[in-house]
Amino acid sequence: MKNLVIANWKMNPVSKEKAKEIFKEIKNNVEDLASEVVVCPPFIYLSFLSSEKKGIILGAQDVFFEEKGSFTGEISPLEIKDLGVEYVIVGHSERRKLFNETDEQINKKIKKSLEVGLNVILCVGETEEEKNQGKTNEILEKQIKQGLSQINDFENINIAYEPVWAIGTGNNCSVDETKNSINFIRQFVKPETRILYGGSVKSENSADYIEKAGANGLLVGRASLDAEEFVKIVKSVE
Ligand code: PEP
Repeated sequence: MKNLVIANWKMNPVSKEKAKEIFKEIKNNVEDLASEVVVCPPFIYLSFLSSEKKGIILGAQDVFFEEKGSFTGEISPLEIKDLGVEYVIVGHSERRKLFNETDEQINKKIKKSLEVGLNVILCVGETEEEKNQGKTNEILEKQIKQGLSQINDFENINIAYEPVWAIGTGNNCSVDETKNSINFIRQFVKPETRILYGGSVKSENSADYIEKAGANGLLVGRASLDAEEFVKIVKSVE
């Protein structure tokens, strides 16, 4: 099983020139590595980056759950697929929190994405309050069971364990806690399902999640906008 390392640029950078620059630097340095490296830029950059993507995989940060029609502002999984995009992140905590995305909507997005042949990265994770109340496993179970409800095709599903309190805070989850959560998640998925860790990953802590916590990859936010640092992270898990 190849490690999967995802760059989630979120709503950055704000110019297409900068996007090209970061993308090229990442691409030139990861082409020959064993891990699968996926860059998820804002939707608007997918089109021109797809023409430069040889040797690297493109992913989208979200998707809508219908193929076409009157859904102003939404992006169809078919439109994404048509650009040569192979992966889609679904259920990121920022979408759950800021856009009130529900497990039911997430489930619909996953089903439609699988139907059109996209690989899915389902993000799950507890908030700080839920962690303090000892509800981490309960939340993970609910998000996975509801997110993957009525789905049997696990081949193209990846799960990213992303504790909400660790995202963008510099406060990464400990190896032991991550290991516990990854082991807990394993019982709900197939042995071939890759389980990633995400939350303030840097090149100093990245290898530990693979070697000690048993993750099959990483989801990297902030550090993926610094091409040199992101390449270091990818190389650290080879
Ligand atoms: C993320 O965007 O999912 C993420 C993990 O961000 P960061 O690496 O900045 O914590």
